Amino acid sequence: MTWVRLDDGFADHPKLEQISDYAFRLHVSAMCWSSRRGTDGRISKRDLYTLASRLVSFEGNPLDLATELTDFELWHTTEYGYWFPLRTRHNPAEKTHHETREHRKHRRIVLSRDGYKCRYCTRREFLTLDHIVPPSKGGSHDPTNLVTACRSCNSRKGSRTPQSASMPLLPIEVSS
Ligand SMILES: [Zn+2]
Repeated sequence: MTWVRLDDGFADHPKLEQISDYAFRLHVSAMCWSSRRGTDGRISKRDLYTLASRLVSFEGNPLDLATELTDFELWHTTEYGYWFPLRTRHNPAEKTHHETREHRKHRRIVLSRDGYKCRYCTRREFLTLDHIVPPSKGGSHDPTNLVTACRSCNSRKGSRTPQSASMPLLPIEVSS
């Protein structure tokens, strides 16, 4: 499931204030329709008729509503029908689930690579994952940017790089 993003000034947008209620409703349902089907803001002529047929008490010509939307440059005409910029976002609940699974996978990889020891003090307890370059400074969530760190080293380092925290990374011990 994806979410359509509407900012809280959406209804007050100068362009939207000037269009008819039917066109406004058509635009909102077109956004949901396109997001649900993953068409990325593309609405075919057929989609237009389907959407217009769902507008309660609308008896006019769907093409007039589309013209209204293109006149105000909310929609653009294309060879297949219409297009409008659609802002979507994945359902945060799904993203969290995915991130948790990813995090667990990375945790296994990183802890085993680092021999289940803190890379700052070699402690073996309360192990967490630390971003070498913090995400706030553009660091990735990839295992190459992750190291094993005990809870106290991790909180001491905070959102700093090993250099700026004066906490050099210890090399990975290779067991022979
Ligand atoms: Zn430590």
